[in-house]
Amino acid sequence: MKQLWSSYHMIEPCVMFMIREVFPNIFQIRVPLPHSPLGHLNSYLIRSEEENLLIDTGLNFSQAFQSLCIGLSEAGVKPEELTEILLTHFHVDHVGLIPRFKEASRNIRVLIHEVEARMSKLMSSEFKDYMESMESFLEANGAPSSIAMNLQKFHPAFFNPQAYEELAIAALPLEDGQEMSVGDYNLQVLWTPGHSPGHVCLYEPSLKILFSGDHLLPTITPHVAQFIENTDPLTDYLNSLERIEKLDAEVVLPAHEDAFTNHRERIRQLTEHHKQRLTEIIEGLRSMSLTAYVLASKVRWNVNYKSWDAFPPFQKYLALGETVAHLNLLEQKEVVKRTKVPISQESNKSLYMYSVQ
Ligand SMILES: [Zn+2]
Ligand SMILES: [Zn+2]
Repeated sequence: MKQLWSSYHMIEPCVMFMIREVFPNIFQIRVPLPHSPLGHLNSYLIRSEEENLLIDTGLNFSQAFQSLCIGLSEAGVKPEELTEILLTHFHVDHVGLIPRFKEASRNIRVLIHEVEARMSKLMSSEFKDYMESMESFLEANGAPSSIAMNLQKFHPAFFNPQAYEELAIAALPLEDGQEMSVGDYNLQVLWTPGHSPGHVCLYEPSLKILFSGDHLLPTITPHVAQFIENTDPLTDYLNSLERIEKLDAEVVLPAHEDAFTNHRERIRQLTEHHKQRLTEIIEGLRSMSLTAYVLASKVRWNVNYKSWDAFPPFQKYLALGETVAHLNLLEQKEVVKRTKVPISQESNKSLYMYSVQ
């Protein structure tokens, strides 16, 4: 793998892109993510005579689209010459530019795991119901109404509805184990739920390359959170880590940060992180039963805020979702018990109180 960026350009102060050919005909294009602590998204282009596949896009900002298009043209590919865009998952930093690419060419096929193809339809046609079930789940977990009732501010389908509407129409479902070939490369689709329910990684066996999306990042701990009843994302995530651990991968090409090697060591660190958080959560419930929200305020989060009160609402929302995901895993393992406590006799609303069994 070439270690240096083959080119680096600053087009104007906020339009910046970098591109490098990481393997023959595989280009990594860095797309800026304005206003995001993640900094950039890595979009990957796999180029061939007949087909051009792009993996992930970026947030729906003109400068991001411009950066990605200039990156593509450096690799000799026009946006309308893309034949497929594969989305590792449906988070807004990955799918945001879909409407602009579809505008460039209606023939581009948009591929996403079948679970998320279904969810994007749900998020367009039944978004209100979906949002209400999230609100009541967050309320039952102790979220104040400033968070539970303000999901519009946090939910990507509100701040980028076009991307989800386009996805609902365009998405072609991918299945676990599906194989795709682009030029000399053969890609295997691996369903790795956890960070999102239909997250996929792509594995290229001849060069042992793993396109890891947000499932594995070299230093950032991927966000694993539960915001809806009857899901178990942390168990899914840990199982998906185990699955990827068995792969023979020489290079990991993630959706954020830099390419890395030794995926097994990274998986060990992430597994250890969640083990420690699970222990911390059990300890937090030792002396009394708590709501997930109160418990979240006691967790030692690795962020730069002096206290829980200083967390912006969005950070509290993320922290709550992570805490619930950990509590749910412990509940499934019968370490923690969840009790439904009615809030008042008049309303049929309840609070979930968690205690150690
Ligand atoms: Zn993501
Ligand atoms: Zn991401």
